[in-house]
Amino acid sequence: MRALRLTAWGEPPTQTEVERPDPQGAEVLVRVEATGLCHSDLHVIDAAPGALPYRLPFTLGHEVAGRIAALGPDADADADGVAVGDRVVLYGPWGCGACDRCAAGRDNYCDRRSSLAWHGAGLGRDGGMAAYVLVPSARHLVPIGDLPADQAAPLSDAGLTSYHALAGLRHALGEGTTTAVIGVGGLGHLAVQILRATTPSRVLAVDVREEALALADRSGADFGSLMGADTAGVLRKRSGGAGADAVLDFVGTTETLELATGILRPGGELAVVGSGGGRLTVSKPGVLPPGFRLSLPFWGSRPELVEVVALARSGAIHVETEQFPLSAAPEAIDRLRRGLMRGRAVLVPG
Ligand code: NAD
Ligand code: ZN
Ligand code: ZN
Repeated sequence: MRALRLTAWGEPPTQTEVERPDPQGAEVLVRVEATGLCHSDLHVIDAAPGALPYRLPFTLGHEVAGRIAALGPDADADADGVAVGDRVVLYGPWGCGACDRCAAGRDNYCDRRSSLAWHGAGLGRDGGMAAYVLVPSARHLVPIGDLPADQAAPLSDAGLTSYHALAGLRHALGEGTTTAVIGVGGLGHLAVQILRATTPSRVLAVDVREEALALADRSGADFGSLMGADTAGVLRKRSGGAGADAVLDFVGTTETLELATGILRPGGELAVVGSGGGRLTVSKPGVLPPGFRLSLPFWGSRPELVEVVALARSGAIHVETEQFPLSAAPEAIDRLRRGLMRGRAVLVPG
């Protein structure tokens, strides 16, 4: 089968022929219907040798939806409520499988994370940019029913990560509050929709692209602003003067972190999701808003993925996608890199 594999650090991934895997033990084989392309894939492709614990080569793709093709002899499909032929989305963060966190479906915060040579499907382990993907256990699968694959795949990271980031701030998002979303791409446009669907908070969106602000508007944002010198002032005014109760930063550069802390209300919540490598200096006393709380959410839990899938199946979330055949992955990667993608790119195996 064809697979998009990372074979050398610092070089573009290559389309390679690999053998279709045969599920052993508790493994499950899933025939891929769609795989999302995440900005994190670019961070992985661009990583310097040694920066990530992954061993090469491996197949990229950590946002995957498909149909169960085969079960290993020990797969506990009954216990996990899945069977051959079921359509599923992959819970992508794969932990050690043995610690308390993994047992609770919180592999994203596995206690042994620092000693593993992977972070999940397509992140050090073979992922879904291929015709088939091998999943270590049925517990990593969530049924999707008849949800279209291009809608389901992005839920497993763009949807789940946004949902999880918001879960930590939910207490601050009551009636009359304001939330700012910085970066309205694959994750950000779903964050706006999840905010809209699950909180009464007023949503302000920020991006460097007009097209992304149009997407924010279609996603339900109350106001959009281009990133600029006066953005902090504009957003503060739009929040009613006091500042934002919460900020979700899907970029994470020093510039966006400065904007985020510049518009946060005292006692506000900042969730930094983007891996932009920016720095925030903490000093007390200092210029940071008093009492603000910072979170650095990573991905989400399996129970949260079940909730995100339910939200999508209820019609509350609609992923804007641009579809590409898997063979056109280099073109999709190039478009994402140049900031030309609208919503989420989804690759479909031929
Ligand atoms: P994306 O490329 O689809 O979207 C990023 C958006 O940010 C784009 O619309 C872009 O125009 C906008 N942007 C870029 N620079 C900006 C700036 N200076 N100010 C305002 N807007 C700006 O990316 P994505 O797939 O949504 O991922 C977003 C970030 O989140 C990436 O850094 C990715 O690696 C990270 N990520 C983190 C997690 C996690 O668990 N923490 C999970 C997935 C992705
Ligand atoms: Zn991702
Ligand atoms: Zn673990």
